[in-house]
Amino acid sequence: MIKGTTQLLGVIGYPVKHSMSPIMHNAAIATLGLDYVYLPFPIAPDRLKTAIDGFAAVGLQGFNITIPHKQTIMPLLANVSDVAQAIGAVNTVWWRDGIWWGTNTDAAGFLAPLQALERDWSQSPAMILGNGGAARAVVAACHQLGVPEIMVVGRNGAKLTAFAQSWQQSPLKPNISVHPWDQLDDLLPRVGLVVNSTPVGMAPKPEVSPLTDGQVNLLPSQAIAYDLIYTPRPTRFLQQARGVGLVTFDGLEMLVQQGAAALEIWTQQPAPVDVMRQALLDHLGQ
Ligand code: NAP
Repeated sequence: MIKGTTQLLGVIGYPVKHSMSPIMHNAAIATLGLDYVYLPFPIAPDRLKTAIDGFAAVGLQGFNITIPHKQTIMPLLANVSDVAQAIGAVNTVWWRDGIWWGTNTDAAGFLAPLQALERDWSQSPAMILGNGGAARAVVAACHQLGVPEIMVVGRNGAKLTAFAQSWQQSPLKPNISVHPWDQLDDLLPRVGLVVNSTPVGMAPKPEVSPLTDGQVNLLPSQAIAYDLIYTPRPTRFLQQARGVGLVTFDGLEMLVQQGAAALEIWTQQPAPVDVMRQALLDHLGQ
């Protein structure tokens, strides 16, 4: 029930109506019995500063950020975490001590299911397909996981070079190499983790995959296939990987876990991850 004491959380984006964050956060808030509500805020790019000032004025406790504000919000925050600076994007903001703080929980969200495996990653190079915004969070996560090498595969040489260079100034200093798509066959046999961070395979074109059946067959038997896409579940890529017996993870878990990490920052208590996951599965009709 919304009362006079209810505290505000939310998500900003433009548009924001597609966001599933209100569904999983309000389910979590209800389960925890917290006096909070989580709302969607469509904020046009030229109103971002006005909105942030307004949030401070009305006492909003914190919020998530989605496209197109993940980068442009950074100069408006008083404190941005090292991991968010390394990734170059903020997805979670909170108000404390009279200032806005920001971080990025996408890397933690991506990592959560991999860390649960309790594997030694020191001999397992990671391969990331794509070099966009999500790939940056995956690089930070793979570095934290302790992989010896991160191979980033892309289709645009200039963008790949810029991507590699952008990490040279980073405090993380991940061991990155960049590769054109036609080197895949040579690289796949030594990969311990392969991540699809392209939209290839996403609805409404679920029949395509970033890898051919033959390329999936080149992966070592203990390799893990991870697709950031969450519609459809599973993607064609993950179906191929399961077909040759690989362990797979999809983007729904990353979405749930990045949300759980944000909720824990705001509420300072463990998030009900199972409730958040089930709320999304119910919403998706799965
Ligand atoms: P983005 O910034 O637009 O980057 C997309 C990347 O994919 C770019 O490197 C792009 O290459 C590449 N790409 C696009 N189409 C391709 C094709 N046909 N063949 C090869 N490469 C292609 O997007 P993003 O924000 O990184 O998101 C990527 C995916 O991750 C999306 O499916 C998104 O839904 C998903 N995602 C999931 C979560 C989650 O929580 N599960 C979070 C964030 C993103 P160019 O640079 O050459 O165009």
